[in-house]
Amino acid sequence: MSKQIDSACPFCDRTIQRATFAETTRFLAVCNSAPILHGHCLVLPRHHVQTILELDNNELMQMMLFSKKVTMGLLNILNATGFDWTLQQGEEAGQTVPHLHLHVIPRKIGDLPDPGDWYPELQNSVPGNIDSYSRPQLADEELERLAKELRSAFANGGWLL
Ligand SMILES: [Zn+2]
Repeated sequence: MSKQIDSACPFCDRTIQRATFAETTRFLAVCNSAPILHGHCLVLPRHHVQTILELDNNELMQMMLFSKKVTMGLLNILNATGFDWTLQQGEEAGQTVPHLHLHVIPRKIGDLPDPGDWYPELQNSVPGNIDSYSRPQLADEELERLAKELRSAFANGGWLL
């Protein structure tokens, strides 16, 4: 079965808490350290599994419900009108951190030259720290500031109830 902790995994590392803005006993919502667009976040399980296929039905349901709440909160907080959800499962599919994570990317009209441009951006990845991109990384302080802002907006907005 799945391991609780993988010491080499950035998503199992305690420092992930700095980027966390919403959580349940099983799942975290974290700010991406190299966002494609403002508000680009990740939803991931606290325990180490590589793919969504390793979750049992109850965990799968919890992850989807939590992701829905996180997405509704982000849309409200950031005044976004659409969103992309992306799961890359397996290296051959572009997964760079082998710990299940759902990309949640809030979208607005005209935010990219073409609405589909986010995918090549997502693919533009190399092994790195939090979610492994060759895109510019946010400084630690910026990441923490953003997570703190979202944490407080989520606490006040009631989206996690
Ligand atoms: Zn992990």
